[in-house]
Amino acid sequence: MSAMPAKVGTGFASGIAPDRNGWVVVAGLGPGRETLVTPEVEAALAEATDVVGYIPYVARVAPREGLTLHPSDNRVELDRSRHALEMAAAGRKVVVVSSGDPGVFAMASAVFEALEAGPLAWRALEIRVLPGITAMLAAAAAAGAPLGHDFCAINLSDNLKPWALIEKRLRLAAEADFAMAFYNPRSKSRPEGFARTLEVLNETCRDARPVLFARAVSTPEQSLRIVPLPDCTPEMADMRTMVIVGNSATRVIEGPAGPWLYTPRSA
Ligand code: SAH
Repeated sequence: MSAMPAKVGTGFASGIAPDRNGWVVVAGLGPGRETLVTPEVEAALAEATDVVGYIPYVARVAPREGLTLHPSDNRVELDRSRHALEMAAAGRKVVVVSSGDPGVFAMASAVFEALEAGPLAWRALEIRVLPGITAMLAAAAAAGAPLGHDFCAINLSDNLKPWALIEKRLRLAAEADFAMAFYNPRSKSRPEGFARTLEVLNETCRDARPVLFARAVSTPEQSLRIVPLPDCTPEMADMRTMVIVGNSATRVIEGPAGPWLYTPRSA
């Protein structure tokens, strides 16, 4: 065991052990389509007494008797995590839901942050993280194989980190010729970030590599659009869009239902 951090709550010392029946599962619901929810996530939801998460994700869980749904607004991830851990300590079986994969810009880190800062007794809780299909992989598969060689994923939201850091990572990833997948590319509250992203990419890449705008992947509203980098404009992305920028070897080939996008394995 590693040394205990200095700042801990009451926990074992005060004899408050968690109820052994309780658990927390942090689960990814996939990008949208029901068939992309894994069987182990379905099994956890079938056993749960409580589901916690952001309103639109909790809405994807079918209500049933014995299951309490706790939808909450965005940006309250830590409160939501504490609530889940508290309920589990009281014997509830709690699933914390995220879209896609829970470890990709989602709830899993928030749960561990709350665990680290919370009462020591929470450390004895059964906690499992169940992976899901992240939007990046669903978008890549829908378009072909744009992530077939080295790539990186960047969250373009500056809610939790300074814009300067995003811009540094963008520039260095483009210089290193990674293909790039962008989550949270553009929102109403941050309209200028994605415009700046396109400027940085054009300055660094200086070519017409293809960029994929994959919106609402695996849902009935899915749309895929491939645009050469110099022709990309900020309005092409919104918060339901995954943007994938190819590396310098990524190319397009025509297919019967639209173009395929792929990155050779040698690039
Ligand atoms: N944990 C999630 C990502 C949360 S961040 C995952 O692993 O997929 C939310 C961002 O994910 C959105 O702004 C969008 O960029 C992307 N996203 C999520 N679902 C999507 C979908 N079905 N189609 C396209 N992009 C999606």
